[in-house]
Amino acid sequence: MVSRELIERAREFHGHVCPFLVLGLRASEIAMRELEVGKAGLAESVGENLLAIVEVNNCFADGVQVATGCTFGNNSLIYVDLGKNAVTLLRRGDRKGVRVYVDAELLSRKYFSEEVNDLFEKVVVRREGSEEDVRKLSMLWEELGFAMAEMPEEEFVIQEVEVVEELERAPIFESVRCSKCGELAMATRIMYVDDVPMCLACADKAVNAVIGRGISKLSMPLYKVLRSK
Ligand SMILES: [Zn+2]
Ligand SMILES: [Zn+2]
Repeated sequence: MVSRELIERAREFHGHVCPFLVLGLRASEIAMRELEVGKAGLAESVGENLLAIVEVNNCFADGVQVATGCTFGNNSLIYVDLGKNAVTLLRRGDRKGVRVYVDAELLSRKYFSEEVNDLFEKVVVRREGSEEDVRKLSMLWEELGFAMAEMPEEEFVIQEVEVVEELERAPIFESVRCSKCGELAMATRIMYVDDVPMCLACADKAVNAVIGRGISKLSMPLYKVLRSK
């Protein structure tokens, strides 16, 4: 069961309580228990000793970050763009891990009311909801989130997995100054035009970005600097 305290911590991070946020918490807790590890603390987050692999960039992924302590910023969260509600947890140096998958269709058919499914369709999918619909949905959504905290474990697919290839630690790269904008960028994100270093933004290169649809190419420049304060 996910504790109320953990859900509140997740709300602070995620902005709201919703079913997939709590499912991310719950799936992570199952994986942590199976792997006999706790939340990443000082040693784990500095040494990247605990790794969480998420396969989706939605609310579920925020639940994983809050519960496991493996985050985007501490390089212990690996995002694999498969579009599935699943998390795999493993200790670095040990290829055996635990993967927990959640089947959204099964859950919504079984636990989500018709009312909430219809509202979701109207407000989120078709973007046609009135203010009242939005309020109603967020209330029902939060209720459902709290209900997910007690989701029976049989509703999750729990797998023992072995990673085929060991995942490298985040390499430390030197920084190189772009000759055009004067900003520092990681050496691997610098290109040389006539031997002059340029950041990818100034070189107008398309770069990989995680956006709503997953990892995609974004063409540069992304923004124009209007003025520096
Ligand atoms: Zn959410
Ligand atoms: Zn530049």
